[in-house]
Amino acid sequence: MLFAPDTEMSLRAAAALVNTQPGASDSGSDELATVDDLRSFFEEWEYTGDRLGTAEELAAVRDVRPVLRELMTADAEGMPVRVNRILAEDHAVPQLVTHDDLGWHLHATPASAPLAVRIRVETAMALVDLVRNGEVNRVKVCAADDCDALLVDLSKNRSKRFCDVGNCGNRANVNAYRARKAASA
Ligand SMILES: [Zn+2]
Ligand SMILES: [Zn+2]
Repeated sequence: MLFAPDTEMSLRAAAALVNTQPGASDSGSDELATVDDLRSFFEEWEYTGDRLGTAEELAAVRDVRPVLRELMTADAEGMPVRVNRILAEDHAVPQLVTHDDLGWHLHATPASAPLAVRIRVETAMALVDLVRNGEVNRVKVCAADDCDALLVDLSKNRSKRFCDVGNCGNRANVNAYRARKAASA
């Protein structure tokens, strides 16, 4: 484990949320299109706190995706500025909490804050750890030519290049194999 469990979970959840956008998603279409899609996302990533299940909430979470993408792919100079802005604008107040079987971890917004705000702050709080550890490049864009998905590289030697979304690593291997075969033929 490189970072605290809640940091790693938040980063992976944020990447998964960004990757519901067309261009990054497995299907190529928007995978956060309905209130039901949002409910599945919420449950899959074990979010807690209030969920309204309204079209407005869905719209707000959809709109947070490009913000997260810009935030997570910012460079070592840009990321701290963006993180600070979000923490200030959303009035983040880090508190140690424990619930379910998660052990002590940080929440920086009340459970009643809008879901989109909670996601934005949670992502910013996770990036605080990356910035402080000089690890902002742990968030990468998939190396496949035709894939925009984000990935969080938590490998020891920072070797992860392809996302888990579209089987990109396998496709790249197959393409490399075909290229080698074509070159030797
Ligand atoms: Zn929690
Ligand atoms: Zn990919």
